Amino acid sequence: MRIGIISFTENGMRLSEKIAECLREDETEAVTRCSAAKGRADGEAFVRYSGLTAPEWAREQFRTGTAMIFVGACGIAVRSIAPWLADKLVDSPVLAVDEKAGYVIPLLSGHVGGGNELAGRLAKRLGAAAVVTTATDLNGRFAVDLFARQNGLRIGNREGIARVSAKVLAGESITMAIAPDRIRTGSPVPEQVELVPYPPGQAVDVAVGARAGGVDAALFLYPKEYALGAGCRSGKEPEKIGRFLEDFLERHKICKESVFALASIDRKKDEEGLRRWSEGAHVPFLTFSAEQLLQVEGTFSPSDFVRATVGVENVCERSALAACRGDGELVCRKEAKDGMTAAAARKSWEVFFSEENRRGHIDIVGMGPGCWEMMTLQAQRALEEADMIVGYTVYIRLLEGRFDPKKLRATAMRQEEERCRICFEEAQKGKRVALVCSGDAGIYGLASLMYEIGKAYPQIGLSVIAGVTAASSGAAVLGAPLNHDFCVISLSDLLTPWEKIEKRLRAAAEGDFAIALYNPASRRRSDYLQRACDILLQTLEESRPCGYVENIGREGTRETVCTLGKLRDLPVNMFTTVFIGNSGSEIVGGKLITRRGYQIEGSTDFCGNDGGKGAV
Ligand code: SAH
Repeated sequence: MRIGIISFTENGMRLSEKIAECLREDETEAVTRCSAAKGRADGEAFVRYSGLTAPEWAREQFRTGTAMIFVGACGIAVRSIAPWLADKLVDSPVLAVDEKAGYVIPLLSGHVGGGNELAGRLAKRLGAAAVVTTATDLNGRFAVDLFARQNGLRIGNREGIARVSAKVLAGESITMAIAPDRIRTGSPVPEQVELVPYPPGQAVDVAVGARAGGVDAALFLYPKEYALGAGCRSGKEPEKIGRFLEDFLERHKICKESVFALASIDRKKDEEGLRRWSEGAHVPFLTFSAEQLLQVEGTFSPSDFVRATVGVENVCERSALAACRGDGELVCRKEAKDGMTAAAARKSWEVFFSEENRRGHIDIVGMGPGCWEMMTLQAQRALEEADMIVGYTVYIRLLEGRFDPKKLRATAMRQEEERCRICFEEAQKGKRVALVCSGDAGIYGLASLMYEIGKAYPQIGLSVIAGVTAASSGAAVLGAPLNHDFCVISLSDLLTPWEKIEKRLRAAAEGDFAIALYNPASRRRSDYLQRACDILLQTLEESRPCGYVENIGREGTRETVCTLGKLRDLPVNMFTTVFIGNSGSEIVGGKLITRRGYQIEGSTDFCGNDGGKGAV
């Protein structure tokens, strides 16, 4: 893919250099043109500054089939490209990236042009978010135009895409007839696609084959089968070359859209007429060295003149076949006219369904302590967009009434691994899945296990959506018990040996940390908090201010403040989070707070949290 970058400010310029760098590292990219609209002299690596206005620059990129990245406001991009927009099937992809590299936004040709793909790749490199707005991507459904692009298929009737996509988006399956023996073996057919024999006996949604005759389909996709080989005398007028090639195709009844490449010898790579024709036809111009051409097997129409000039007796036939990469046959032999030659080869083709067509994705969502109001907007959106929400029964129950029950899937406690696997299996069917965890999914949650299991499912995208953890939401109920260095310790010894938990408790007390204790009890372990308090009491005084909160953000929220000595004998349950103050903690008006050490007027107390300054 050829890519051009344009920027308008100092910051933008720096970012465009970084983008060029990122894309260059990616071997599939050729960032052949990078440019900025105003100012600055030439000479910087890869980013060329030209005197063109943005619309002039955009016109040039469209003309040459180059993808565009605008570093700056979407508005600038939209205004610059507006005059030149032609057609969704031929327009170059256009992306906008904000100056701070927070967002990569595909604005045009997301599917057919590959804009979404490029945006996703670039966003990953920049650590930015790709703002994809095409409906089939958002819904994790089969995108027929993406399928066409990935397989290099020509779209016969563009209105067919909308018809087929509408059906897919409505959740219906589509019928597809593909010419016999043209599906790559082992290619995973998406759930929404029902394959039927070709030629189909009745109307189908999509037909994939070289000829439309006798087939009734909403959308026709044709293979790009032909490579056009060409040669010419140096400096031949571009108009003449163009006319000659068009005539050649017409005479042989080869539709220009089914040509996948123009090919020639490498010494012709800058031949203006050939280059222009390939740009106009939106096909790559492939060139091969004389040695490469000599390796192509077959019998060719020889020319002594050509042999004497370039070292191989035939250019057009050999290069057309070379473009088919060993998988083609010569279908039109060399024709010569007025110092120009052309030949055509047809390559065999097959289609595949890539995993990307089934863009399964899992959001690992921290839903906060329980109530809807304490869930982040990002988490709420992820749940709304999900095709399926998976979680422990208690959390799923909290979501009932807000979502279609068909989309909710509850699993029992302790079945964490199975819960994770269900997510991957559903995502593999192309669904967007949300796995819910209480609080934050990365704090005693399933986020890391998901990444571990995810190693076996590299095609499934994973993202973690932060939630308000119990330490934070519980602290807010109690006052401000964690307002200095603190640590979080879980008293559950299901996955951690008790000795290690004891060691951490001792170290926390020793380090004068405020402490939040998770999992202070369960049905099986009613005395764990007592045991923890006894360990802490070996270092800390009995009067140390403490507190705990039950059912944060849920019905029956209850807060208690007390001393460490008392805490030891209080009953707590598994929906409780416990807080132990540090040496600077106190109970103020029934609230547990940990001072930071500010010297405020009227206060004579010394608090140990000011790094020792208060002691002087
Ligand atoms: N991922 C969760 C923690 C799961 S561990 C989070 O980030 O909050 C389970 C423990 O978290 C419980 O035993 C309890 O100590 C604490 N907890 C979670 N939700 C709670 C709530 N609503 N009220 C009180 N404590 C809670």
